[in-house]
Amino acid sequence: MLSNMPKIVSSPPSFSAGVVDCWSVVCARCAKRRSERRDIIAEVYETELKYGRDLRIVMEEFHRPMLVAGLLSSDQLAGIFLNAEELIQVGEECMSL
Ligand SMILES: [Zn+2]
Repeated sequence: MLSNMPKIVSSPPSFSAGVVDCWSVVCARCAKRRSERRDIIAEVYETELKYGRDLRIVMEEFHRPMLVAGLLSSDQLAGIFLNAEELIQVGEECMSL
């Protein structure tokens, strides 16, 4: 009977104003899923961070010098670097949530 119960792997329930914190008690399978979900979120976050950093490097190292040197018209630059500034801005907003 009791051996069929799901094994509780996380910390015991915490009590706050008489309410059981249901997020702290999960079975082994849910704990594994939670851990996987956490890893995926961390990876998405990390990837977005690196992408933003790379975009800023591209703007800094390529867009700006090309603009300053007048190698291409601003229309041509806008076509090549499309919405990079917008992507950087949106990325930063997402990262600050
Ligand atoms: Zn479960």
